Amino acid sequence: MPSSFRFPTSNREALAHVDSAELIALTRDLIRIPSVVRPGDPVATEAAVAEYVERWLTKEGLSVEVQPVAAGRPNVLGWIGEPSAGRTLLLEGHTDVVTEGDPAAWTHPPFAADVTDGRIWGRGAADMKGGLAAAMIAAAAIKRSGARFQGALVVGALVDEEGDMIGARHLCGTPLGRALTAAVICEPEQNELCLEQRGVVWARVTVRGRMAHGAMPEAGANPIAALGTVLSQAPRLERRLRRLCRPSPYLRPPTVTPTTVRSPLAGVAQANVIPAAAEATLDIRLTSGPDETAIAAEIDRFCREASARTEGVTVDWRPVNGYRLATRVERSEPLVKAMAGAVREVTGHAPRFGGVPGSTDGTILRATLGIPIVTCGPGNRLIPHQVDEYVETSELVEAARIYTATALKFLEG
Ligand SMILES: [Zn+2]
Repeated sequence: MPSSFRFPTSNREALAHVDSAELIALTRDLIRIPSVVRPGDPVATEAAVAEYVERWLTKEGLSVEVQPVAAGRPNVLGWIGEPSAGRTLLLEGHTDVVTEGDPAAWTHPPFAADVTDGRIWGRGAADMKGGLAAAMIAAAAIKRSGARFQGALVVGALVDEEGDMIGARHLCGTPLGRALTAAVICEPEQNELCLEQRGVVWARVTVRGRMAHGAMPEAGANPIAALGTVLSQAPRLERRLRRLCRPSPYLRPPTVTPTTVRSPLAGVAQANVIPAAAEATLDIRLTSGPDETAIAAEIDRFCREASARTEGVTVDWRPVNGYRLATRVERSEPLVKAMAGAVREVTGHAPRFGGVPGSTDGTILRATLGIPIVTCGPGNRLIPHQVDEYVETSELVEAARIYTATALKFLEG
């Protein structure tokens, strides 16, 4: 029987296999396995939760691939269908969570996964063990229902989204990654269909002057004073980038925000020494439009002008961790149409469209593989990284149903 043969199994039948109690239990299990990555501590990684996901997907009869990305940091991919044939849709989640901070600041212990008031509480409830669990349940529901489709549905549990996104970068270089034709990023966006994501460039600006005695500033060139001028001009860079980028109905315009300052860069900080150099990081958020060259040209110009303002110093910059450009997909994209139809079917309402203020693993997938991505997942958009993180169970279940219906619509050929 060709894999394109479709049994008259309806979306309804697959949706009937989405079990709320099972989804809530799975989410709680994932939260209870802490996966805060603590550099230097070899056991504080995603390994334990990845192993749980691997076992669960295997038990459900999915094909499973574990990709070692770094020591104790594996990506886990599970799929149904044939990833090389036709459309291959990824439901993407990450297994790492950010620090819980001071546990005493939490009303519900951060890794207890308490359930009260229709919410599951804990670090990662929204960002994003809830979304990952919803994706896993959706794939299992389709598998259990026996629904036929073309191509493949892949669930990905990737490492290091909160860091350098090495999990997503690794996936893009594997045969499974290269087979992907579209991805749903299951990050907490209140189940809105987010068609755009702001991009980010961390511009590390370095000012070099000349060391001298603090009592004789005329003998040196003070990089700290020059850095002050650089920072005072950040709004000018922001205005220029706003002119360069396309306005978005869903996202705030580009912003330029100083986030770190450091001086001296070598030796010891001393009150009577004018240091040789100083640096700052500008956290630059962008909407779609300009490419790397255009953005770099604007920051180059900004540094040249800053150099010219202060005698005896040079100002240059480099991007920290590369460029993560803004992403955007059109409403006419088949993935967007499938998701919009899925939302209507599951909720009875028209979809709400939106945008993601930060970058996600989807940024890497879009830039590297060129595939369309839509970010849509359960959880209040503002709750990630806060204490008392939670996910609404109703939204969680709705997400699993949206993923199920999306996959069947997108993969029906
Ligand atoms: Zn996340």
